[in-house]
Amino acid sequence: MNGFTVAIDGPAASGKGTISRAVAEAFGFAHLDTGLLYRAVGARVLEGVTPEDAARALVPEDLESDALRTPEVAQAASRVAAVPEVRAALVDFQRTFAARAGGAVLDGRDIGTVICPGAQVKLFVTASREVRARRRCAELQGKGHDVTLEEVLADVTARDARDMGRADAPLRAAADAVEIDTTDMKIADAVAAAVALIKAKRVDHS
Ligand code: C5P
Repeated sequence: MNGFTVAIDGPAASGKGTISRAVAEAFGFAHLDTGLLYRAVGARVLEGVTPEDAARALVPEDLESDALRTPEVAQAASRVAAVPEVRAALVDFQRTFAARAGGAVLDGRDIGTVICPGAQVKLFVTASREVRARRRCAELQGKGHDVTLEEVLADVTARDARDMGRADAPLRAAADAVEIDTTDMKIADAVAAAVALIKAKRVDHS
């Protein structure tokens, strides 16, 4: 089966990353966390490179650094993500990844709306802001970051506003996306719902 694409969008810490990884594992699809592209550009900008130059010079190896997971880099990522030239420079890489034989899962903010509008499956994963902040806070503290819930909530709120309010490819659900609200859901149940949906679409597609 060629070019089966799963597009998973949603705000920070909604659970989309966990669902994407689990879905990729379940079906043997390749997975691209597209937030890492913007984080890698943001990290270069923090070093003094212009956003446009950083985006154009990006190579896959840049996505592998653990340093991309900090709150500072997340903020820098959401700032560069509002620059149309940055978004444009990253389109081809994402579309090539999505079209690979054997299937692909891409998660981000604009996969179902802009990058892969023809994706066979589109999910929009949400959760309340408080629950997302608590999850992200626990995750960061677990990795040894010295953060408080208030700081993480402020970070998530600022990024939501920037991601939803930008003119170019704002965060929103595609009209044909299936929404999964993980606020009161166990992650295993959210994964099971996503897997069931994809199984049904694969039967239609084959
Ligand atoms: O998903 P993650 O939190 O790692 O993304 C970091 C930032 O990158 C987001 O806040 C958003 O501004 C940007 N992003 C984007 N489009 C995507 C993925 C991420 O604008 N497809």
